[in-house]
Amino acid sequence: MTNNVQLEKGTVVKSTGKAYNVRTSGGEVISCSIKGRFRTREIKTTNPLAVGDQVAFSRTTGTNEGVIFELEPRRNYIIRKASNLSHEAQIIAANLDQAIIMVSMANPETPIEFIDRFLVTAEAYSIPAVVMFNKTDLYDDDASDLHKYLVKLYEGIGYQTISLSVATGFNTGKLESLLMDKVSLLSGNSGVGKSSMLNLLNPSLRLKTKEVSDYHRQGKHATTFPEMHFMPFGGAVIDTPGIRGFGVIDLEKGETYHFFPEIFRVAANCRFHNCLHVNEPGCAVIEALDSGSVAWSRYRSYISILEGDDSKYR
Ligand code: GDP
Ligand code: ZN
Repeated sequence: MTNNVQLEKGTVVKSTGKAYNVRTSGGEVISCSIKGRFRTREIKTTNPLAVGDQVAFSRTTGTNEGVIFELEPRRNYIIRKASNLSHEAQIIAANLDQAIIMVSMANPETPIEFIDRFLVTAEAYSIPAVVMFNKTDLYDDDASDLHKYLVKLYEGIGYQTISLSVATGFNTGKLESLLMDKVSLLSGNSGVGKSSMLNLLNPSLRLKTKEVSDYHRQGKHATTFPEMHFMPFGGAVIDTPGIRGFGVIDLEKGETYHFFPEIFRVAANCRFHNCLHVNEPGCAVIEALDSGSVAWSRYRSYISILEGDDSKYR
């Protein structure tokens, strides 16, 4: 490093692979490149820095540009497999207080397995997860029943849930309290209302929204990047457009059930300590399905993850 380089601190708020937008505590956004390499010790990653990273950078005099020299240790992070075949990982975001999955029971209906895969990922990285049901204004009787059932199911397991309608403003106050002064990751299948929600909370963002029927026209692999959006009431939300699911990286078969908290609790009573809860004699998880203390939907998601085909959810 050269002498008299003045380092300033900031947060990576957007990463396009080449350039990083770094926000100072004063709210200025500086476009930065990186100096040297930053390694994450345990894993090979395709991106050295991610949204949410705390960095030290030097500003190029008289410009809005700079160079990042240092990465502060991450409190936590969430990653996904870079591709189905490689063992490389992409860090999606770092230093999160919570991870939210926005879902809908109508137009479009979120597959339950999609929810469970997200929750497993959050468990694997020890990030508190929230299931957010949007579009409640559109639910018919069946969708309402499913909604109530899932709220009870996930709260029973220990996850926080929130139900809202971005269209009518139902529970906007609760939503603001949930996000206030926290850094939240926001995920969810296309069309559930993520961009609409961010626009509602911070109208100056003017994010593009689409009719649900327009989604098939958009290129499947449109290049989009995670971005941190700041909230007027305090806190920030990291939007992850284009990321459909989080392929959990290198999950051992024998430990998959550790990330289903209610299955993990029950499994203490299985006859065999290495029980995979598929067809072993004396399996307490299979017994719990009969008694109803483990839900079939959760068990089906568990088996699907165990079988390892995540092609639909990546
Ligand atoms: P995203 O892909 O998750 O960012 O979804 P968008 O924010 O683009 O929303 C997709 C469509 O759903 C848009 O036409 C929104 O106007 C609509 N939408 C979002 N939230 C609601 C809601 O609570 N109720 C209804 N009826 N429509 C909504
Ligand atoms: Zn078992």
